[in-house]
Amino acid sequence: MAPTHVLRCCQRGLAWIPVIFIAMVVCWSYYAYVVELCIFTITSIGKQVVYLIFFHLSFIMFVWSYWKTIFTKPANPSKEFCLAKAEKERYEKEERPESQQEILWRAATSLPLYTRTGAGAIRYCDRCQVIKPDRCHHCSACDMCVLKMDHHCPWVNNCVGFSNYKFFILFLAYSLLYCLFIAATVLQYFIKFWTNDLQETHSHAKFHVLFLFFVAAMFCISILSLFSYHLWLVGKNRSTIEAFRAPVFRTGSDKNGFSLGFRKNISQVFGDQKKYWLLPVFTSQGDGLTFPTRLVNADVEQPTAALHPEPNKSEVTVRPLSESQNRLLSNEQNTNSMVHHVANNPIKSAPSESTTVSMESES
Ligand SMILES: [Zn+2]
Ligand SMILES: [Zn+2]
Repeated sequence: MAPTHVLRCCQRGLAWIPVIFIAMVVCWSYYAYVVELCIFTITSIGKQVVYLIFFHLSFIMFVWSYWKTIFTKPANPSKEFCLAKAEKERYEKEERPESQQEILWRAATSLPLYTRTGAGAIRYCDRCQVIKPDRCHHCSACDMCVLKMDHHCPWVNNCVGFSNYKFFILFLAYSLLYCLFIAATVLQYFIKFWTNDLQETHSHAKFHVLFLFFVAAMFCISILSLFSYHLWLVGKNRSTIEAFRAPVFRTGSDKNGFSLGFRKNISQVFGDQKKYWLLPVFTSQGDGLTFPTRLVNADVEQPTAALHPEPNKSEVTVRPLSESQNRLLSNEQNTNSMVHHVANNPIKSAPSESTTVSMESES
């Protein structure tokens, strides 16, 4: 085995340490709550049953969503975003960045791309040799391009992105619920042990119960801030990366470029059907390659025109390429071409605070 390969294997192994640590804390908390608290400390049967039922409900949901966040593979750009073999060879041989960009622009005419680099160029990953779809970023820890990458999370040893963002939010929600439930139910026994009111029970139950409260309270505080931040991001339809660096569109950078309004933003991550919102099953909308966008443009004749076509066609599903998409990519001087296309469409205009660009496959 080559030394770099060994190093890589070691790195991969070490990356599991935070996950193993969390798993051990969770296993211990299960033992401490069920055995030491419910069986050894609580004497009332009714209380034991109620506590155990609610504990197991939150425990199952927490472990389920944690598992899904860890083991859902990050989604990668599809083959269409790779350069064709001949183009790739030409790209690699080419030394001048302008000529390389030319090759990329030509390849990108058939792709549904709205975002650019800060300099207005096509976003390309040299490492994966792929044109980056909107909201896609290269993760150096995973060594791959990840669709709608949010961040690489060491606590799940996985990239949080399009494929598992809903699971990640639910993992935060259920871990918060789990810790809150433990802290709330343990509190009275914590106080009793602390003030030595429960002398008759054996001493290691005391240790477990005291520690259980401290750990649950500590996790509560740290998860709460992260959870509220991500709820805010979901409401704004922003990834963590986009919150730090706004995506750049043809019209310039726009931190609200993907925001479709609060309700739609939530549906983007959680789906349309409310009954699935709280379950860690995949219900996010779209394919992760294209996203509905909002083009904010100050000098459009109808700045408050928005599109509300048939409910499930409101997303940009531009594969194969639509006419307006072609125009977006090729027509450099007409910055408002898309918005005009939208505004001139007589059927679908309705007042709203945003300009939603909707395109359906026409070719
Ligand atoms: Zn990459
Ligand atoms: Zn990653």
